[in-house]
Amino acid sequence: MTAELIAVGTELLLGNIANTDAQMLSEKLSALGITVHHHTVVGDNPQRLEEVLKTARRRADIIITTGGLGPTYDDLTKQTICRTFGRELELHEDILEEIRAWFQTKMGKTMPENNVQQAMLPVNCTVFDNPVGTAPGCAFEENGVHVLMLPGPPFECRYMFENRAARYLEKLTDGVIVSHEIKIFGMGESSVEEALREPMTTLTNPTLAPYAKLNECMVRATARAGTREEAEAMLAPLVERVRGILGDVVYGVDVESLEAVVSGLLRERGLTLSAAESCTGGLVAKRMTDLPGASGVFRGGVVSYTNGVKAGVLGVPEELLERFGAVSEPVARSMAECCRKICGSDLALSVTGVAGPDTDDRGNEVGTVFIALTDGNETICRKLSCGRGRGRDRVRSAAAGNAFDMIRRRLLGLPV
Ligand code: ATP
Ligand code: MG
Repeated sequence: MTAELIAVGTELLLGNIANTDAQMLSEKLSALGITVHHHTVVGDNPQRLEEVLKTARRRADIIITTGGLGPTYDDLTKQTICRTFGRELELHEDILEEIRAWFQTKMGKTMPENNVQQAMLPVNCTVFDNPVGTAPGCAFEENGVHVLMLPGPPFECRYMFENRAARYLEKLTDGVIVSHEIKIFGMGESSVEEALREPMTTLTNPTLAPYAKLNECMVRATARAGTREEAEAMLAPLVERVRGILGDVVYGVDVESLEAVVSGLLRERGLTLSAAESCTGGLVAKRMTDLPGASGVFRGGVVSYTNGVKAGVLGVPEELLERFGAVSEPVARSMAECCRKICGSDLALSVTGVAGPDTDDRGNEVGTVFIALTDGNETICRKLSCGRGRGRDRVRSAAAGNAFDMIRRRLLGLPV
């Protein structure tokens, strides 16, 4: 099955907002085994939306629209779709009651009369109710083409896809599609592809496909089968094979992130962490504290961006800073050791480096980063050169990623 996504909204065309709904939906559709051939963006204009819909129904089995389901005059998606596909709109009393109740309980006010419009849905459609907002979505089939309408606000769009639309789409395909994500840190996408070329190019079911993310990558193994059990049985040996080929750069399967894995390992062992950060400016702490329950494993940290704070707050000896410079192994080690003491954690790490755009006063290249990790007995240090042609964000994210990688390796007894 192929799908086309149509995002409706003039603000997307003006560049006021990015089409993140399309990105999210594409990712989810590919995980369901549905191929997306086109993304289209069209303004809040019924004629142009109609043209786009006519083009889409010639070339896609599934059309998914986002946006324009609200109660205002520029929300024209449903009306235009119904006109194009020759369907009437009818009032759904039960949906109207839900919207009324939503206004009462969530907003504490009476539903404005324009919202009646949101309970008008195409005749004979599958309704996707919307417990996280007001606009319901819906789906119908016309001449073999399935049309699904989802709300524009990203949270509602995601919720409705995951909890309503995905089930509708699963029924269209025979059997089930199951996939597992093999997450990798420390090996580039092209090296991963090279290592996995044989299975990637020869397998048809299950399949393996690579995806690159900022400073890490992932391989998705997908199987189509009659039942979930059959699909899992096809996937298990493939996932093992990939792990065998790639080795310890695989940090998890179906895990959320590298920091989530690190956090889990710390929790299992009853250990706490703190971080002294220079060039990452708190990114390590941010990524740790993005995780729910972070306070159980992360004690805190110091953003010691200047030498004054490295010496004055952390207690790094001035003489080390003068002799070796802030971006150096001795300073990284000292930062970690001092941080461990002042934060009272079991482990502490430090990051000091040159994020760019210019080299530092000691001639260190952009992307030179020292990361140290200490447990009070032993301090280990890794030097990165991750600068060439990269912006500050990428250097920082590479530095934070490597910091987490070091902890993971250390805790698992893998070579650092
Ligand atoms: P509402 O009931 O809020 O009016 P709606 O379904 O009518 O929802 P729109 O009016 O088109 O949706 O968009 C509402 C908001 O949702 C936009 O202001 C924008 O912030 C966000 N939004 C819409 N479309 C997209 C998109 N494709 N990607 C990301 N955000 C979007
Ligand atoms: Mg709207």
